Amino acid sequence: MLIDGYGRKHDYLRVSVTERCNFRCQYCMPEKPFSWVPKENLLSYEDLFKFIKASIDEGIKKVRITGGEPLLREGLDTFLKMIFDYKNDIDLALTTNAFLLPNAAQKLKDAGLKRINISLDSMRADVAAKIAQKNVLPTVLKGIQAADDAGLKIKINCVPIKGINDQDIVEVLDFCKERGYIIRFIEFMENHHAKEGAKGLNSDEMKEIISRKYKIVKTIPRDTSSPAQYYELEDGYQFGIIEPHKDDFCSACNRIRLTAEGYLIPCLYFEDAMSIKDAVRNDNIDEAVAILKKVLAGKPEKNKWSVKDDNEVSSRAFYETGG
Ligand code: SAM
Ligand code: SF4
Repeated sequence: MLIDGYGRKHDYLRVSVTERCNFRCQYCMPEKPFSWVPKENLLSYEDLFKFIKASIDEGIKKVRITGGEPLLREGLDTFLKMIFDYKNDIDLALTTNAFLLPNAAQKLKDAGLKRINISLDSMRADVAAKIAQKNVLPTVLKGIQAADDAGLKIKINCVPIKGINDQDIVEVLDFCKERGYIIRFIEFMENHHAKEGAKGLNSDEMKEIISRKYKIVKTIPRDTSSPAQYYELEDGYQFGIIEPHKDDFCSACNRIRLTAEGYLIPCLYFEDAMSIKDAVRNDNIDEAVAILKKVLAGKPEKNKWSVKDDNEVSSRAFYETGG
């Protein structure tokens, strides 16, 4: 079992397979980075798999593949199948912008993927295009339909940004409600790579907008395995808000992140990280596991970031850490 220095059990590994992306979301990668990580610096699927296997043996029960945009990396279905074949009851999930999903959803499902989280920031094509800086909505909606047709369990992620899609959140909620998807609104997490001046809505502001149309009748007791706080509407539909600005957000953290280059990151808002690249490339899996345990032992109790100081933002790029 993987336990950090504060007694938190870690059973959730997020694996980024690329930092590249076909969108330029304002809150994540508004400009193409000056340079990409050269492909030879990325861990191969075989090396990533060696680490994932060892992590599963140590107690990881959920593996989420993310990026950048993970569907840009060729052979993702084969990689998923490697993980599924090793342990078919692993909770295998993917986070994607859905642009390449129309032709990939069924293959991913056949490979063993169970659940998919899809980013959808607006139901209006012009607003979605303003955020992603590309006309994305028609293809994203086809991707969502393809995932649904393939029988994947769908969650939608939406990051409300003031003055851009803040008034769109009820429409996104309605789309999910009608289709039986779970919606999670994510508070914008300030970081140096986001568009300058971008401001997110906080949880109270989101609830205020939603309550103009729907009565929020209940706050659901927080399930410690989820980063989202869920709220219930009068008709029983529950929506989630990921509220990292709240003080108690880190108390039940169960996740660790591996970047495509092989860095293990204990927390999005903490600069320390250690590489397992050499260890896995040299087939020294004991060493990779020792690094994993060291990273966990050094994980901070709370993210090193506070709303009290607006200047204190993370230099970590979401497209590198995978969100
Ligand atoms: N490209 C995929 C996607 O967009 O779903 C996967 C990678 S993306 C980095 C993972 C998640 O991080 C997405 O749900 C995205 O909305 C979220 N995200 C990115 N930048 C963020 C920020 N600054 N604050 C909050 N969430 C962010
Ligand atoms: Fe790409 Fe996802 Fe970042 Fe948007 S949030 S730029 S889709 S990695």
